[in-house]
Amino acid sequence: MKREKKDYYEILGVPRNATQEEIRKAYKKLVKEWHPDRHPENRKEAEQRFKEIQEAYEVLSDPQKRAMYDRFGYVGEQPVYQEAETGSSFFEDVFREFENIFNRDIFDVFFGEESGRRERRKYARRGEDIRYTIEVNLSDLINGTEIPIEYERYETCLRCGGTGVEPDSGYIGCPRCGGTGRIREEKRSFFGYFVSERTCDECGGTGRVPRELCHECGGSGRVLRRVRRTIKIPPNIEDGGHLRISGGGNAGYYGGPYGDLIITVRVKSDSKFRRSGRDLIYDITIDYLQAILGTTVEIPLPEGGTTMLKIPPGTQPETVFRLKGKGLPGEYGRRGDLLVNVHVEIPKNLSREERKILEDLAKRRGIPVA
Ligand SMILES: [Zn+2]
Ligand SMILES: [Zn+2]
Repeated sequence: MKREKKDYYEILGVPRNATQEEIRKAYKKLVKEWHPDRHPENRKEAEQRFKEIQEAYEVLSDPQKRAMYDRFGYVGEQPVYQEAETGSSFFEDVFREFENIFNRDIFDVFFGEESGRRERRKYARRGEDIRYTIEVNLSDLINGTEIPIEYERYETCLRCGGTGVEPDSGYIGCPRCGGTGRIREEKRSFFGYFVSERTCDECGGTGRVPRELCHECGGSGRVLRRVRRTIKIPPNIEDGGHLRISGGGNAGYYGGPYGDLIITVRVKSDSKFRRSGRDLIYDITIDYLQAILGTTVEIPLPEGGTTMLKIPPGTQPETVFRLKGKGLPGEYGRRGDLLVNVHVEIPKNLSREERKILEDLAKRRGIPVA
């Protein structure tokens, strides 16, 4: 992974010696200011800024990550929204080696359900993607269109800025670790007796927990909102194709970035055309005289409008004319063909005059008729 050097202090606009309170205030202000929904005209840029702000806050609001960032200019080997392992004890290191060897969590072997607690640690992570299917008609699929949609998603709670902490309520010492940020465990195993120490999962090693959870979101940092958004469907998208709208999904947890909105575009069936893979089939019936003498017919196009098709003299029934590139869009926007299937109608009832003309014609050509 390429590691970009980002100045988190600059992103939040705070000095390097800023207090946690100053960082939190700056974050809350910026996250409101750069919420992508407030910048419909340059959404891409706002999403980028929004993510950067979230990322900067995620690091600077965590004393351990901030210390690491101040020292090394980055946090962890992995993207910062994943948990950066910090300050593990000797035993954890040894056991991590075992985990690697056996490819399983050796803590489970020794500690049983005790280790499950490690999972509950409140670390920043990306919000979930949201999937949405849009049905469009044939002409919109080919020409492109804009479709307004409405859906529910979790958004970053504006009251607490996603932290889950009630603003200005302050902190108290962590009851789980007694304010030390570390948890010691004495364990007996077939190796003998040993002491393990690990980061407190309740306070994440900070030794303190918020006095009050946010009154708006109840501490989750996210609130469910109904959002409207206009989806731009580009021309010639494949039926069943996907559009990914970055940051359109659920808000991240504890300051993590938003997930994406993934739109599946499906074409509605059309009464005029039948489908055969990427090709469209249009059925047309012409009179037997038109088949014999030739004619020009008007063919509707899937993108709207019509085209004129020349039927040459002597066209046989069920002849198929291929209009290249007038079918359904496929991969890379390349369209299939429009197949015009020509049926010829033989009249069931003829007028006396018509019958007379045809009988004369048959006689002249020596064709026996009834
Ligand atoms: Zn604690
Ligand atoms: Zn909140």
